[in-house]
Amino acid sequence: MNRSLSFTVLVVAALTACTPTPPEQQTLTNIADALGGRDRILAVHTLTLEGEGMNWNVGQDMTMDATGQTFAVTGYKRELDLDAVRMRVQQTRTPNFLYYQGQAAQTQRFGLDGDVAYSIGANDAVTRNGRSAMVDRRTEYFHHPVTLLRAALNNAATVAGPRSEGNETWLDITVPDAGTFSLAVDAQSNLPARVRSRGAHPNLGDVVIETEFSDYAEVDGLNLPQRFVTSIDRYRSTEMRLSRPTLSASAADLAAPAEARDAAAPGAPAINVVAEVVAPGVWLLAGQSHHSALIEFADHLVLVEAPQSEARTLAVIAKARELVPGKRLTQLISSHFHFDHTAGIRAAVAEGLSVITQDGNVAYVEDVIRRPHTEQPDALQRQPQPLTIEGFRDSKVLEDTTRRVELYHLSGNPHADTLLAAYLPAERVLIQVDAFSPGAPVNPYAANLLEQIRARKLQVNRIVSLHGPIVPLAELVKAVPAS
Ligand SMILES: [Zn+2]
Ligand SMILES: [Zn+2]
Repeated sequence: MNRSLSFTVLVVAALTACTPTPPEQQTLTNIADALGGRDRILAVHTLTLEGEGMNWNVGQDMTMDATGQTFAVTGYKRELDLDAVRMRVQQTRTPNFLYYQGQAAQTQRFGLDGDVAYSIGANDAVTRNGRSAMVDRRTEYFHHPVTLLRAALNNAATVAGPRSEGNETWLDITVPDAGTFSLAVDAQSNLPARVRSRGAHPNLGDVVIETEFSDYAEVDGLNLPQRFVTSIDRYRSTEMRLSRPTLSASAADLAAPAEARDAAAPGAPAINVVAEVVAPGVWLLAGQSHHSALIEFADHLVLVEAPQSEARTLAVIAKARELVPGKRLTQLISSHFHFDHTAGIRAAVAEGLSVITQDGNVAYVEDVIRRPHTEQPDALQRQPQPLTIEGFRDSKVLEDTTRRVELYHLSGNPHADTLLAAYLPAERVLIQVDAFSPGAPVNPYAANLLEQIRARKLQVNRIVSLHGPIVPLAELVKAVPAS
C-alpha cells in the first residue's frame, strides 16, 4: 500500500513537472510581472484615480465627425474597490460650446455596486439608474489593467489566447456577467496598451469600446497608466490625464447608498403618444421628451422625426396609422443627425418609410442603417429593409393638390450643421426642434432660427417645437435678446 502510494505520488510529481504552463497563463503571468507581480496586484484593495481631461460631444456635435465640442473635465476622482465590483466617480464638466443647458460647470456623481448603478444629484438625492448605465459603468470598471488582471488572477474570469497582432499580444479575459475584455500588451514590455470590449448602442448598433493606456508610472511597486483615451468605434469620447494614482490595502466603503440598493432598477420608460391637432391634416405627436409631427397629403402621410428610441418611434408610427387609417405613411423627414433625434430612424426604415433630410445627414443615416445590431437585435436587424434616402442642400418642397411643405436648411445654426425646419405656408406653421425650445432657461440657437425666418420671409404664426408646446412666433422673438 505504502509502496504503491509513493509510486503514485512520484508519477504525479513527474507529470506536473513536465506539464508546461498553458500559454494563456504564461502570458497572464508576464503581464502581471510587468505591472509589478501577482502578489502586489492582489494586495491592493482600493485604487483611486484623480486628474483631469475632456469628454467629446459624440453624436451631438456639429456633424457626426466633428470633434470641436468638448467638455473640460476637472476634479475627476474615480475610486475602485478591487474586491467587489464597486466604483464611485465624481467630476465637474464645463462645455466649451453653446450648450443647451448653458455654459455653467456641472458636477456629476455616480457609481456602481454590483448590478446597482446610481447617481447622486446636487441636492444629494440618490437615483437608481437603468440597465444601460449599469452596463456602461461595468465596462468602465473593467477597462483598467488592475481590475482586469485581478479578475483573471483570482480565477474570477476565464482567460483565452494569446494571439499576436503586430507589436501587441492579445489576451481575452471573460468576466461572468460583464463580458469579454480583450487586453493588448506591448510584446516587448508586456505593459497593457489597450483593452477592447463589445457593446450595443441604440444608433450605432454593435460597437467596440476601446481604452488606450499610456504614461506608465511606478506607484508603490506597481506600474500604472496615467493617461486613458476611450473611443467608441472611431469616435473618441474621453481623454483623462491622472496625477499619481493611489493604492490602498484597505477597502474603501464604496457600497451603493441604501436608497439606490432598495429601489427597483427602472425599466424602459412608458411610451405615451398624445396627438394634438395643429391644423386640419397636421398633428403634433407629443409625449415623453421628444415629439414628432404628422402631415397628411392627398394620398399619403409624412412623418417628421423618428426620435428617442425604437419603442417610441414604433408607437408614433402606430398612432399615425390610427389617425389616418386609409393612407400609407411613406416618408420620414429627419431634422438632424443627433443621436437622440435619430434613435428611431432604423425602426422607421424597418416600417418601410423613406428618409428625407439635409445633405449633411445622408452619410450618417446610410451608416446607421447599414450597421449590424447583433448584440441587441432591433426591428431592422430582424427584418432588413433597403434604405431610400433623399438629401437636399438648401431647400426642398413637398407638394400636391392639398398641401405644401417647404423644408429649409438652418444654415449657420450653432446647434448642428445639418439642422432643418419644415414650413407649412398655408397654415403659417413652422415645425422645428432644438433651434428653439419654448420654456427652456436658455435658447442659444434661437437667434439663427429667427434670422432664417426673416431672411426667407416666412409668414410664421405658430411654432411647433418637437421638444415643447406649440407657441406663437412672439415666444421665439422673446427668447432672442435684442431682436
Ligand atoms: Zn440636437
Ligand atoms: Zn433635441
